[in-house]
Amino acid sequence: MRTYIVLLGPPGAGKGTQAKLIAEKLGLAHISSGDIFRENLKAQTELGQKAQGYMNRGELVPDDLTIAMIQDRLSRPDCEGGALLDGFPRTAEQANALSKMLLELGGKVKVVPCILVPAEVLIERLGGRWSCRAAGHVFHIKYNPPKVAGVCDMDGSELYQREDDKSETVARRIQVYEAQTAPLIDFYKKQNLLVEVDGTQEIHLVTEQILAAIAKAG
Ligand code: AMP
Repeated sequence: MRTYIVLLGPPGAGKGTQAKLIAEKLGLAHISSGDIFRENLKAQTELGQKAQGYMNRGELVPDDLTIAMIQDRLSRPDCEGGALLDGFPRTAEQANALSKMLLELGGKVKVVPCILVPAEVLIERLGGRWSCRAAGHVFHIKYNPPKVAGVCDMDGSELYQREDDKSETVARRIQVYEAQTAPLIDFYKKQNLLVEVDGTQEIHLVTEQILAAIAKAG
């Protein structure tokens, strides 16, 4: 059966960082809805243009657009073994749509690691976050600075601050998470799929605990 893992947690919890490490380790496709939207924005596709306003305001892109985008992505050949979902689902409607999609693909969500970090830490993390233009590698001016200022250690591309990591938008994103995404914690708890992980620990400890939760789920 295909392995589908949903990584849950507020913006700034470290989902992207962990998803990259874990997908690589397990040989799973890493599907980041935020990255796909940003790629579409950069290429100014129709989807990118539709999503832009919502993203810049720190709000969620409407469910119909988001669900169709993920459905298309999950049907590609690199997802034949399953996928690690990072940033999707973010609403109850998306979570229900995902269950249906996976049923059709012959799989289901195996485990939902949820990375927990208090709001004040999220604000500090997001405000100091710089991302690389080429692949979205993430650095922090204080906690994880690049070797050369403004340059990605991994691929040498330029580092920039995401529009939605600017302070006005960060607060809105956290509010949106609390209102629309946090209820999914209960949704997956009821299905016995949720595993809480303390996201304030060092990166490698968070990775180890997520890997352990995945291994335990079988
Ligand atoms: P992220 O990189 O995951 O923080 O996502 C950046 C932005 O993309 C979010 O603030 C939303 O505007 C949009 N986005 C990403 N994933 C979703 C989703 N599952 N549903 C709606 N909007 C999303």
